[in-house]
Amino acid sequence: MRPPGDKGLSVRFWGVRGSIPTAGPDCAETGGNTACVEIRCGQHVLLFDAGTGIREAGIALTREGIGRFDILLSHSHYDHVIGLPFFQPLFDPRARCTIWSGHMAGGTTRAMVADLLKPPFFPAGPAMFRAGLSYEDFRAGDVIRPAAGIAISTAQLDHPGGVIGYRVEFGGRVITYLTDTGTGSEAANRAALRLADQADMVIYDCMYTEEEANERREFGHSTWMLGAGLCHMAKARQLAMFHHAPGRSDAEVSAFEAAARSVFAGAFAAREGMKVSFPALEVAAL
Ligand SMILES: [Zn+2]
Ligand SMILES: [Zn+2]
Repeated sequence: MRPPGDKGLSVRFWGVRGSIPTAGPDCAETGGNTACVEIRCGQHVLLFDAGTGIREAGIALTREGIGRFDILLSHSHYDHVIGLPFFQPLFDPRARCTIWSGHMAGGTTRAMVADLLKPPFFPAGPAMFRAGLSYEDFRAGDVIRPAAGIAISTAQLDHPGGVIGYRVEFGGRVITYLTDTGTGSEAANRAALRLADQADMVIYDCMYTEEEANERREFGHSTWMLGAGLCHMAKARQLAMFHHAPGRSDAEVSAFEAAARSVFAGAFAAREGMKVSFPALEVAAL
């Protein structure tokens, strides 16, 4: 854990797969857990999405003695929420957790979590949790401030049922989380560009090849080529290729990574367990 007052920021990938978890020797290097990214701002832990990767995150963070969490959901498709009831801190009465969402027009985060844990799909409801649990609803465009010095801008992207993109600013650093977004909406493209502006890292939906994206437009996903173009336009430093298709082998992920690097030098494939640290650039309060 960082000492109090340290404004460093780090990104840790607990789950990088899209749609459904995968297992087996072909994907072991990339990892098979679905979306969960820890962005740690000083001592404060933010978790983006609660796919199956959040299970391991919960075990590791509990071991580290961390008891305060904000979970920010991009949206509530299964691959982004299914790990929630397996997040160990939610069963610890000393832990404090806030779950945020803003993608549902009119729906609430509380009702969405209750629906997720309903029979016949799950044996027990949210009453099984023992942590101090709170729910926050926001609207796309709001700026969220979960703790001192952290400002998170939000915007609606382009995905069936809605999805929120996030821009986290802390200690002079910027990390942008843009997953599950298609490419058909000009408004969403403009929003993505705004959120990614001069970011230190853009975590981006690289699920499809160009060909797949053309064939499967209704699923609302993007490509590394568009991610690289966005990062170039936004003058971002790093592109984390994220939300790998379930059938994508390690060899394919590495080949896409090399191709992406040839057009944008800061591109890399996000792999499960990977951690990237950024020292603070400034200490002024936001
Ligand atoms: Zn997804
Ligand atoms: Zn989705």
